[in-house]
Amino acid sequence: MSHFIRLKNEQDTIDLGKRLALVCLDYLNTHDDSIIIYLEGDLGAGKTTFSRGFLQALGHKGNVKSPTYTLVEPYEFKEFSVYHFDLYRLADPEELEFMGIRDYLSKRSICLVEWPSQASGALPNADINIHLIYDNFARIANIDLVTNKVHL
Ligand code: ADP
Ligand code: MG
Repeated sequence: MSHFIRLKNEQDTIDLGKRLALVCLDYLNTHDDSIIIYLEGDLGAGKTTFSRGFLQALGHKGNVKSPTYTLVEPYEFKEFSVYHFDLYRLADPEELEFMGIRDYLSKRSICLVEWPSQASGALPNADINIHLIYDNFARIANIDLVTNKVHL
């Protein structure tokens, strides 16, 4: 199921992150599972802005910046964890195996992955694929609900 949503400013991107966080939360409250979200789009398209809204909706206070050098930033919540990846500088997809990517998904967790294309196949498939596209000064989000874990 594919959705196109126009995001007219930064706040819309944050609000989309919040909306997705709440449906994921709903799913994890009733399923012992994990969710992986791919965030695609050019530099500055809004992947980290989306992630900020997502994490704030789950109760995270404080900063959210792309873990460009550390590749992953963990956020612990009461019932589950969120792992925010930025694979822009991933040199070798094998690094993901060394990082224990499979373990991140073996428990009740959500992975938000910026630049999933850098992993060239070393990542599990997405449950939700979000592509943020420049539209003059605004953005378009193309949301693909690949699996049926969540609905908009
Ligand atoms: P990325 O992580 O994709 O590189 P960031 O989220 O770090 O991008 O930066 C996105 C930039 O675009 C920020 O300056 C943010 O304020 C702005 N932005 C986010 N969403 C929108 C939008 N829907 N319309 C216009 N500007 C936006
Ligand atoms: Mg980013």
